[in-house]
Amino acid sequence: MPDDISGALTPPGTKRSGAEALKLASRGLRGRLAEELAEGGIQVSEDAYQLLKFHGSYEQFDRDTATARKQQKLEKEYQFMLRVRMPGGRLTAAQYLGLDRLADDHANGTIRITSRQGIQFHGILKGELKPAIAAVNHTLLTTICACGDVSRNVTASPAPIRDARHERLLADARELSELLKPKSRAYYEIFLDETPGFVPEAEQVETLYGPTYLPRKFKIGITVPEDNTIDVLSNDLGIVAIWEGDRLAGYNIAVGGGLGMTHNKPRTYPRLASPIAFIPPGGLLRMVHAVMGLHRDFGDRGDRRRARLKYVVDDRGLDWVRATLEDSYGEAFEPARPMTLEVPDILGWHEQGDGRLWLGVPIASGRILDDGPLRLRSALRLIAQRYGYPITVTPQHDALLCDIAPEQRAEVTALLAEHGVAAAETMTPLARFTLACPALPTCGLALTEAERLQPKHVAQMEGLLAKHGLSDRRISLRITGCPNGCVRTYTGDIGLVGRMPGYYALYVGGDFEGTRLSFRLFDRIAEAAVFETLDPLLRDYAAEGQPGEGFGDWCNRTGLEGLLGRAWRAQAAST
Ligand code: SF4
Repeated sequence: MPDDISGALTPPGTKRSGAEALKLASRGLRGRLAEELAEGGIQVSEDAYQLLKFHGSYEQFDRDTATARKQQKLEKEYQFMLRVRMPGGRLTAAQYLGLDRLADDHANGTIRITSRQGIQFHGILKGELKPAIAAVNHTLLTTICACGDVSRNVTASPAPIRDARHERLLADARELSELLKPKSRAYYEIFLDETPGFVPEAEQVETLYGPTYLPRKFKIGITVPEDNTIDVLSNDLGIVAIWEGDRLAGYNIAVGGGLGMTHNKPRTYPRLASPIAFIPPGGLLRMVHAVMGLHRDFGDRGDRRRARLKYVVDDRGLDWVRATLEDSYGEAFEPARPMTLEVPDILGWHEQGDGRLWLGVPIASGRILDDGPLRLRSALRLIAQRYGYPITVTPQHDALLCDIAPEQRAEVTALLAEHGVAAAETMTPLARFTLACPALPTCGLALTEAERLQPKHVAQMEGLLAKHGLSDRRISLRITGCPNGCVRTYTGDIGLVGRMPGYYALYVGGDFEGTRLSFRLFDRIAEAAVFETLDPLLRDYAAEGQPGEGFGDWCNRTGLEGLLGRAWRAQAAST
């Protein structure tokens, strides 16, 4: 394999983006990061901003105060988001307690579960970034490659079922995560004071990534058909383990998923991964290398908006992709096996299969905090201290407390209730399955609110569902502040996508199981009118929906024209 492999097959003459030059010149992601972090001040340069992502951090600023501060000619309130990479979302109690301390010592006192089973901290000041990263490493976790043009946190079925299937999934997720880490020691030198040269340069050559790493991010998810909580087809590489009884028969491989897009740029769009092969268990690592190589070598290095694997798949076609992958893999593929993806409800109490229980604790927007009567953070801290239960965070932003002895069930239930934490069984399915991204005030890309309006949106939607006798239906509502789709906005029943301040694009027609994309029903709809618009559609769904048909399924069956006609007729009737 040549040394400079990254983008080696990018068509000649392609003008590479500035990010490519930056990565190439960065000396293995070092740049001037160490110097800039030591320099003081509250902000980093543009180059450092880009390189920091590879180490798990984004520079942000408080969007709430930015305008007023600008008018007063004051600097923005810069702060950093820090993301922890933890394959399959697994944490020991000690690790959780370490992260809980970090939230107070270095961040804004909250912990945020991400939609890729990571943990995110907000509000870290520049001078606190290095100690915060050191604190993460002290818990034996890392922030390496939680962001950046590399393989991100590997998601895996969160259900803590103690059987061979789930053990194998987690082992695979951990192995892939470890293998796909960069070789560069930049992270250890910059943030953990490793002496440069401690690891010989020859061992830091990026044999997998090459010196310019990937054209953009690369996401991997691994699960079994009966648990598509991770939305496996939204990944660049979706892996579904197929078991025959007690035997792992192999893996279905799906490539080219990705949900990000840009408004008004039709060449960008969400896409679900295409099942392309079935491979035996021993072929997984070879396959992962082949798919990542496809992204590395053929991804667009000129236009970052189109630098995802999904566009390689569509531009070149599935036949070409299959043939190219077979070439790298070294064998012809069997076709993907038939599979039916399902989404179980993993909240509330469940048996693990080893005599112990897990409790799925619903967490609105994944934000773990103490806020008035809700003392969720205190409750989880106390449980971790007192009982030492491991915690799994889910791609639905929730936390699963694991390994609970049946005789402790009543105590744990009481402790959570005393801290104002709602039990899953007291919530509507809608509230359990609604997702919202962080958006304002921290995300620099947010066009609208998401997380902060989640309780209001859920309450409005619950009102409508109750009105139409639909309160018991499983409906997934997903809200993002921009079209990047960080909470998989385009695969649920209903998606609200930030369009401009106060306005959303409304998507419907996806399915609860994450196997079909939604479509845009309205491009720009005032926040106040969103639920008015959904009202007649929910009414008609209640009247016409077939047994077992989800709202997204009904919208898909009714079609864009049919839905628009109903919405307009309802609007005309009300004026
Ligand atoms: Fe930010 Fe957009 Fe992602 Fe929301 S979806 S967190 S607004 S990038």
